[in-house]
Amino acid sequence: MAVPKRKTSKSKTASRKAQNTKKPIARASSCSQCGAPAMPHHVCTSCGYYNGRQVLSVSSEE
Ligand SMILES: [Zn+2]
Repeated sequence: MAVPKRKTSKSKTASRKAQNTKKPIARASSCSQCGAPAMPHHVCTSCGYYNGRQVLSVSSEE
């Protein structure tokens, strides 16, 4: 069985585990209807519009 020749240093371990941090969600686009930040290619959660038409009925909007 293969055995590691050297103990992995703390620096090497830490720099590897730095890749596992949770990155913030990119909010690059905003809703064209209400201007709220929205995920691209997703229905707007604040007004329920997608691609210029209402596809969801949001209870807060009346
Ligand atoms: Zn919207």
